[in-house]
Amino acid sequence: MKTHITHKDCCAWCGHTVDRATSKETDDPPGVGDLSLCLECGEWNVFDDGLHLRVPTDEEFDEIGTSPKCMEARAKWTEFKRWRDEQREPTITSCDNGTETSQNQTSDQNNS
Ligand SMILES: [Zn+2]
Repeated sequence: MKTHITHKDCCAWCGHTVDRATSKETDDPPGVGDLSLCLECGEWNVFDDGLHLRVPTDEEFDEIGTSPKCMEARAKWTEFKRWRDEQREPTITSCDNGTETSQNQTSDQNNS
C-alpha cells in the first residue's frame, strides 16, 4: 500500500480538495479509468484522461455497484466516517471563543 501525491483536484460530488491517492492493492500511481473513493463524502470518482476526477458514467456505476472490492471499500469508509464523526464532536462542543475582549481599553472620560 502506497500513497501517491496527485495534482490538486476536487471531488466531483462534494468539491472536497483531493491531492493524494492510496491503493490497497498496488503501489502504482492512479491511472486513467481508476476509481477513487472520496474520504469526505464517500462517493466514487473516476480518473479521467488528464487524471482529473469526474463522476462515473452509468456503466461504471453498474460495475461499482456489483464489485465486491468497491463494496468493501465503501464499508471501510462508513467505519472511517463513524470514527471521524466521533473524533470531531468534542472540538465542536468545546469551541469557546465567543467572547471578545479588548486588550487596550482606552479610558475615555465620561462627560457627565
Ligand atoms: Zn466528495
